[in-house]
Amino acid sequence: MKAAFFSRHGGPEVMTYGDLPAPEVKPGEVLVQIKAAAMNRVDKWVRDGWPGLKLDLPHIPGSDGAGVVMETADELGGFRSGDRVVINTNLGCGACEFCVAGQDNLCRDWRLIGETIRGTNAEFFAVPARQLVHLPEGFSFENAAAAALVFQTAWHSLIARGQLRAGETVLIVGAGGGVNTAAIQIARLAGCTVYVVGSDERKLALAESLGAAVLIDRSKEDWGRKVYQLTNKRGVDVVVDNVGAATLMTSLRSARKGGRILTVGNTSGPKFEMDNRYMFGKHLSLIGSTMSTRAEFATVMGLVFAGKLKPVIDSTFPLKDIRAAHEHMERGEVTGKIVLTVNSD
Ligand SMILES: [Zn+2]
Repeated sequence: MKAAFFSRHGGPEVMTYGDLPAPEVKPGEVLVQIKAAAMNRVDKWVRDGWPGLKLDLPHIPGSDGAGVVMETADELGGFRSGDRVVINTNLGCGACEFCVAGQDNLCRDWRLIGETIRGTNAEFFAVPARQLVHLPEGFSFENAAAAALVFQTAWHSLIARGQLRAGETVLIVGAGGGVNTAAIQIARLAGCTVYVVGSDERKLALAESLGAAVLIDRSKEDWGRKVYQLTNKRGVDVVVDNVGAATLMTSLRSARKGGRILTVGNTSGPKFEMDNRYMFGKHLSLIGSTMSTRAEFATVMGLVFAGKLKPVIDSTFPLKDIRAAHEHMERGEVTGKIVLTVNSD
């Protein structure tokens, strides 16, 4: 099959488009012919490599994908050949105490598809049937792939962990990324007033179009001070901070007493120094999570299929142009998702 892969770690130049053997379909798995995949920052981190990362090379990246069922054993899990599906990248073992309790994102042997195991940037992908959700008629593979990882991540963080309530104020730090464009819409749908801190006018205009009510341009003003002023020195109920090192301390300052700070990632780096007086003095909760449960994935994708939540697509590349797609991601001007098209007729 055709696939995008790398045989050694490095920059975008290590990405190759070529032939690899199609995956073996194990019991319980369904073979999916991929039609669209979407890129995530993890694609770059895995390609760059990190100390201790052990991969079977060549490695095929890709956490998001949607396509058509090719082969199943006995209509596994209600899936039949020809069904249109989207893949849930959050892969639990299915057997540990957490998976059995339906908390598969807490799995003892948790995997992200495309990270430590081969991913979706290929013509075919074999996946346990429980990872699939049917696509409704007319819903595009591109939009499904673009939505899958980021909407489940933002949903679990804001709704399950963050317990957003109607009427609350929610500050989202960063405007253009896939998870934040999802978070703005989810907070709005939950009945919250959304504040967004962005780095330029283009990203803030996008945030506004997605439902943000208050826009703060951090290239022009001190955003921590601005939040303080705008909330009459109270602070916001909830801060969504997936930027990390560069912003977390200001996020702690921007939350009201008793506020929550939600985080699912750290695009500016993983480590930050914290003034603990803010944590206890303001009764703050710092709440982390990653991905979602399977039940939440089905719920949030249902809202995406219904048009209540919309993935933002930055650009589309054919899979054969994988190197150009990685170069585009590296340039950092991306708003929303980069989609790769595969097997497009
Ligand atoms: Zn498990």
